[in-house]
Amino acid sequence: LKKLRLILGDQLNHQHSWYKEEQDEIIYVLMEMRQETDYTVHHIQKVVGFFLAMRNFAEYLKERDHEVIYYHINYKENQQDLAENLKQLIKKNDIEKFEYQLPDEYRLDEQLKEICDSLSVESEAYDTEHFLTQRDDLEKFYKGKKQMTMEYFYRDMRKKYDIMMATKKDPEGGKWNFDKSNRKKWTGKPEIPHERGFRKDVSGLVKEIEEAGIKTMGNIDEKSFNWPTSREDGLSVLNYFCKNLLVHFGDFQDALHTEQAYLFHSRLSFCMNSKMLSPKEVIESVVGYYYEHKDEIDISQVEGFIRQILGWREYMRGIYWLKMPGYRRSNKLDNQNELPPFYWDGNTKMNCLHHSIIQSLDNAYAHHIQRLMITGNYALLTQCHPDEVDAWYLGIYIDAIEWVEITNTRGMSQFADGGIVATKPYVSSGSYINKMSNYCKSCHYKVSKKTEEDACPFNSLYWNFLDDKKEFFKNNQRMNMMMSLLEKKDAKEIAKIKERAAQIIKNPSDF
Ligand code: FAD
Ligand code: SF4
Repeated sequence: LKKLRLILGDQLNHQHSWYKEEQDEIIYVLMEMRQETDYTVHHIQKVVGFFLAMRNFAEYLKERDHEVIYYHINYKENQQDLAENLKQLIKKNDIEKFEYQLPDEYRLDEQLKEICDSLSVESEAYDTEHFLTQRDDLEKFYKGKKQMTMEYFYRDMRKKYDIMMATKKDPEGGKWNFDKSNRKKWTGKPEIPHERGFRKDVSGLVKEIEEAGIKTMGNIDEKSFNWPTSREDGLSVLNYFCKNLLVHFGDFQDALHTEQAYLFHSRLSFCMNSKMLSPKEVIESVVGYYYEHKDEIDISQVEGFIRQILGWREYMRGIYWLKMPGYRRSNKLDNQNELPPFYWDGNTKMNCLHHSIIQSLDNAYAHHIQRLMITGNYALLTQCHPDEVDAWYLGIYIDAIEWVEITNTRGMSQFADGGIVATKPYVSSGSYINKMSNYCKSCHYKVSKKTEEDACPFNSLYWNFLDDKKEFFKNNQRMNMMMSLLEKKDAKEIAKIKERAAQIIKNPSDF
């Protein structure tokens, strides 16, 4: 049977069993398409990163004698639409069977089902062989349980895959979770090794993207593109992480700094989300390195990292398939405000937001705590509509694909799912930010002040948020302490807080 096999831009899995098969009469197709560049406004580095990784993957297949059709964005036969392109290719190449790997996005899953229904040839879907769980494993795991707490799923995964286990039931180091030791501020020491960067000249590709007329956001250094875009690059970033960054990963996981965009973070999300690296090999490399260097690396550094990939990453994917498509519209806190304009240019006097946004625009990257406790925190405190918040996160980060973006943004960060992913909202006043960063030191605002003109906006916004949403949170036990502190505030103070918060929300560009 003459087959056409589709490879989507985030399905660059070199180890897939497809490529180990006999190669008779199989054509692989990869396509750069406007339907993918235009469903949101992406960061220019994200478009470049995906196109370059796809092109490298196509070359890799060709070098191994696979037949590959590659549609460049400006190729004249490119219809820019998945259905149109597939129909055209099937006809032109006398294809008898169409095959694809299950997409990770609901949008594409629906579209491919529709396409297959309308085709005149037979079709078949395959697993991507990437994740450590199946789409519906999470649903089975939590069946009959009231709360879907990630921790229990994570423990189960540790046991199931025998990762850092002392016995079949007991974790190595006597604890499942070393989160409490992962909360250090970084004050210049230990020295942070330079990230494993790249200096790729991508000016030709940027020109192609411009010629195509694709609307993008953010900045790019065309002569020095800094992201891994092949499997070799990805393996090199992974090795670099093990050798240089793992030793302090856990300690400074939550730290924030004006001059350090990456700290001890791995920058592996793009490699994994495009499937150039598998989560299994990342986990095995990191744990393997730890076992070889146990006298130098503490378990708390490693456990913190493993939890993110084996726990959070798989868990978020499970939540996505369990809760879509309704999840996309959830807004349990009924937030309605617009995201402030400074999210697109970093033009704000609030130093924490300024740095986190400028770094995001420059690098198509921010680490987890910048996303959660700076930009996410502010968007939630100012009660922005989750659609607005989602669109921004889906566009700006190189690793942003809906299954992991929406669950983190709408769920973890904006509490729009009403408490499925997070048991309480991730909100804080300026004092948490001051504790974990050096942002406040050089800020226009004073973190210790509450409602004065030069007071940190996060302080009034925080209490205003709790007050506005007190009905919603009245039965949430994890909020009891904060709610009783709120109740103790006298009416005059509350009035001042609310007045200042209203000003900030109404005129975000003045702050
Ligand atoms: P490291 O800190 O080195 O962590 C290692 C790996 O763990 C990451 O590469 C990632 O694969 C995984 N990981 C860590 N935290 C999470 C998490 N919460 N959920 C899933 N995987 C996790 N991650 C994305 O991959 N794509 C997104 O679009 C995305 N959007 C986010 C939006 C918000 C509002 C928040 C709060 C978090 C988001 N995250 C997203 C999760 C996390 O911030 C990024 O995975 C991480 O910052 C990527 O950088 P890194 O590779 O250096 O991560
Ligand atoms: Fe951010 Fe407030 Fe600190 Fe300024 S003082 S950096 S606004 S937390």
